[in-house]
Amino acid sequence: MARYDYDLGIIGGGAARLTVASGAAQLGAKTLLVEKEAALGGDCLHYGCVPSKTLLKTAHVYHLMKNGPKFGLPAITPPGVDFREVTARIRSVISTIQEHDSVARFCKLGAEVEFGNPVFTDEHAIHLDGKIISARAWVIATGSSPEIPAIEGRAATPYLTNRDLFSFDTLPSSMIILGAGPIAVEMALAFCRLGTKVTVIQRSNQILSKEDRDMAGIVQQALAEEGVTFLLNTAVVRVGDLGSEREVVVKNAAGETVTLRGEAILVALGRSANAGDLGLAEIGVPFDRKGLIVDSRLRTSHRPISMEPATSSAAINSPMSPGMKAMWY
Ligand SMILES: Cc1cc2nc3c(=O)[nH]c(=O)nc-3n(C[C@H](O)[C@H](O)[C@H](O)COP(=O)(O)OP(=O)(O)OC[C@H]3O[C@@H](n4cnc5c(N)ncnc54)[C@H](O)[C@@H]3O)c2cc1C
Repeated sequence: MARYDYDLGIIGGGAARLTVASGAAQLGAKTLLVEKEAALGGDCLHYGCVPSKTLLKTAHVYHLMKNGPKFGLPAITPPGVDFREVTARIRSVISTIQEHDSVARFCKLGAEVEFGNPVFTDEHAIHLDGKIISARAWVIATGSSPEIPAIEGRAATPYLTNRDLFSFDTLPSSMIILGAGPIAVEMALAFCRLGTKVTVIQRSNQILSKEDRDMAGIVQQALAEEGVTFLLNTAVVRVGDLGSEREVVVKNAAGETVTLRGEAILVALGRSANAGDLGLAEIGVPFDRKGLIVDSRLRTSHRPISMEPATSSAAINSPMSPGMKAMWY
């Protein structure tokens, strides 16, 4: 029988690997985790759930401060937000949680960790920084990245994604958000409450288009009452850089071309799977922008290689990944 260095190899050190690796290690499987970034935690800890919910909490508190009379408290006008203080708090929350997501803690669960950029050499082995490491089975848990469509002018126009949002120094005075999915909508609320003039552009006639229409309508109305502008049935034609401002040219519901200006553009137009750097095509494992092509048991055409549920093609297609659903509801 073939011998492998590990029973199970997991590629990607985000939220999903914790479940897979701790389960496998506790069942006695010799388990290796491979992460390409310098720290574990993935999008959820560094660029997703944790910073976004921390920002929303800060925005909520500021909103309450401005609405004292609704709660029988005196009216006050708080000073403007120093975004450096806000991002410092976000960093401190991340670093508190990072301690619980350390390599040492993970190794205590019984798994080993390697950092680097793995490339498959065959269905059982990867090349990692000059070494070949083999495992009986591999789980791909590499998550997803913001999808950046080929909009005219994009290459010459600065824009933000969820990877930049939580680290800049100054609160933008205005922000044009492309897309109206969950990330777009929650960031629209957070920035609007902190004092940014927010405009959300959505191609279809509904925000949160994968959710029920009546629920999405209630959310839209609530945000609009707080000051968010929604442009539905509106397509982005091109973007441009005007120096201190950006412009977004759109075609609106009436077919008119309108030019919007804002200090920042946030691109929140969906996600695509991080599957392209792993050498999977070279060993014949099929994937597309939504993820690996898998069967009903999340196995690829090469049975030793499977995908964790949260970022399988099917899950990226669905409104929210199973992991997201569990945390959101
Ligand atoms: C702004 C925002 C807010 C969100 N809010 C919530 C929320 O409130 N609740 C919720 O449940 N979900 C939320 N999510 C979604 C949540 O972040 C994801 O569902 C979750 O991170 C998916 O976990 P994952 O492990 O599949 O992928 P990730 O967390 O993305 O982890 C993938 C890991 O793989 C690594 N990797 C990538 N490529 C390679 C490679 N080639 N080699 C080695 N390693 C690699 C990455 O560096 C990363 O560490 C939010 C997402 C965003 C963007």
